[in-house]
Amino acid sequence: MSTIGILGGGQLARMLALAAVPLGARVVALDPSASACAGSVAQVLQADYDDQEALARFAEQIDVATFDFENVPAASAALLAGQRPVFPAPEALATSQDRLSEKSLFTEVGLATPTFATIDSLDALHQALEHTGLPAVLKTRRLGYDGKGQARLHRRADASTAWQALGSGRVPLILEAFVPFQRELSVIAVRGRDGDFRTWPLTRNWHDHGILALSVAPAEVSATLAEQAIGHARAIAERLDYVGVFALELFEHDGRLLGNEMAPRVHNSGHWTIEGAATSQFENHLRAVLGLPLGDTRLVEPCAMLNFIGQMPSRNKALAIPGLHWHDYGKRARPGRKLGHATVRAPDPARLQQRLAQAAQGLDHPAHAILAQSPAG
Ligand code: AMP
Repeated sequence: MSTIGILGGGQLARMLALAAVPLGARVVALDPSASACAGSVAQVLQADYDDQEALARFAEQIDVATFDFENVPAASAALLAGQRPVFPAPEALATSQDRLSEKSLFTEVGLATPTFATIDSLDALHQALEHTGLPAVLKTRRLGYDGKGQARLHRRADASTAWQALGSGRVPLILEAFVPFQRELSVIAVRGRDGDFRTWPLTRNWHDHGILALSVAPAEVSATLAEQAIGHARAIAERLDYVGVFALELFEHDGRLLGNEMAPRVHNSGHWTIEGAATSQFENHLRAVLGLPLGDTRLVEPCAMLNFIGQMPSRNKALAIPGLHWHDYGKRARPGRKLGHATVRAPDPARLQQRLAQAAQGLDHPAHAILAQSPAG
């Protein structure tokens, strides 16, 4: 039986572990937390990501290593790579850990990005605002997720507050023009060890306070835009010699695609593939890292995925909604924490809209307000 080691033991590791069972594989996760939620379905080795002795013990138990969390220290990924195959490779991980190298990669493969500038002083921030205009978003180059490590600037006078909020230059920063996008889209893609490359149908995403709240697949975009998005994902995967699943997050603005960021792992906007695609992102990630043939990524039925942040709704109410699939990660509730999700499936887009509206309203989910402002489609 193959054993896959996962750095990180959160809900992504948990869903990977569940997908490993029918493949005849098992998962061991390494996580600093004593209550990592993968622990109820997989073995978890509790240790810090830079604990060298624990990493060596971890390596002995596994055949191949991967990640559910991209902010693992590069040195730990490299140490592991000295003992076991690691996918994606530490170099690919390093590129996506820094917003600057990520944007440089996008530019190299011909994917436009929001106007940006690196910032190392308050003066530089003032100057860069000339370049990006207002509004703008100041972000930490590293370790940002779910809207953390970001400050929006609406007026020039916001510069010093934003500068202080992000550590007054103690960590590298990047300033981006705020894009008044029409839609946020993501490509979930997978590349095998043999270079086989596949994508799932494009997903449309809505965020609430910087955290993904709702995804709908397939996104209703033109065939040309979808081809462009997939072409960019393929070029990135090939440039990085990438192995495994990744997500490419895009803004659609005035008919053009702009690259926001990539996540070198299975992604929240691909959770719908568990019930909505012939092969889920979790199964295909495992197939890729194990060197197995990739599975069919075809859509089974249109899907909407609702994230449960901070609190879970009533399971009884949710399960009464036709076509709804329930995922409770078994985590303790805390504001802003991803606790679970539901995927609503329907035979056609019109019925999906009905079921989604019913779920959003019945479960008192933020998607209700989001859809009132910007209907799916
Ligand atoms: P990020 O961590 O960069 O993915 O940012 C989280 C969310 O903030 C994105 O999904 C967008 O909704 C929003 N956001 C980030 N950067 C920008 C930008 N340059 N323009 C407009 N919205 C942005």
